[in-house]
Amino acid sequence: MRPALFFAVNVPVKMIAGWIELIMKTKLCKICHLIKPLDEFRKNRRQCKKCVKDYTTKNKKKINARRKANRAKDPEKYNAIQRAYYAKNREKLNARKNAKRAADPEKRRSADRARRDRKPGVMEARRRREAKRLEKIRHPEKYRALATKKAKAYRAKNREKIKAQQKSYRVKNLESLRAQERTAYAKNPDKERAQQRARYHNDPEKERARQRKYKAKDPDRARAQRRKSAHKVKGRKNLIMLMAAADILKNKLKKGANDDSRKIR
Ligand SMILES: [Zn+2]
Repeated sequence: MRPALFFAVNVPVKMIAGWIELIMKTKLCKICHLIKPLDEFRKNRRQCKKCVKDYTTKNKKKINARRKANRAKDPEKYNAIQRAYYAKNREKLNARKNAKRAADPEKRRSADRARRDRKPGVMEARRRREAKRLEKIRHPEKYRALATKKAKAYRAKNREKIKAQQKSYRVKNLESLRAQERTAYAKNPDKERAQQRARYHNDPEKERARQRKYKAKDPDRARAQRRKSAHKVKGRKNLIMLMAAADILKNKLKKGANDDSRKIR
């Protein structure tokens, strides 16, 4: 009785568990109709890896032609996908390529030769670009000076264009630029004033012309501003006089105190 019960209860449970395990860890291939472990399948595929490989090797030409046709339909899309994939896996792909190239130097050389023949000038252009890059790293000062010179030449050649660009930028962003200037002035008025003075000192005629232009453009506003600054200057003058008077008074008091002390003695 006991062995029979044991058999009836325990063995089927074990069997069912085994089936479940089998079902969870295996899959039936749609092509070869074999039950194979899951790692014989790619994700979400009903064909096993071997069947897929057999199919692709058998139909290589057909698959490649289809791929090519699809690519030709919308090359920009395919290029974008390729570029994105490369950008994302750059390190990995480069490492793999370099390892492959290092593993078989003879193959590498012949592949390079084939590419050179297929695309004359491309390899040469790449070599030249690389040489220039290294040269720039080797002589940074020289190339920095060259860049400065180039920028200067560009500025000299396109003065009007740059001016127009700056002007349009200023017009477009007038409010924010003014706010920036105001905060800069509030933060460090001495520096800003010194800069103004330096600007005037550098080319007084230019600054005067600028002021004249400003006055001509909006005489009322210029007058109001002049009045404001005159008031400020007057206020400053008054303050200076007041301070001077205070100094004089202080000195007098000191003297008086000294006189007093003398008198007491
Ligand atoms: Zn299969």
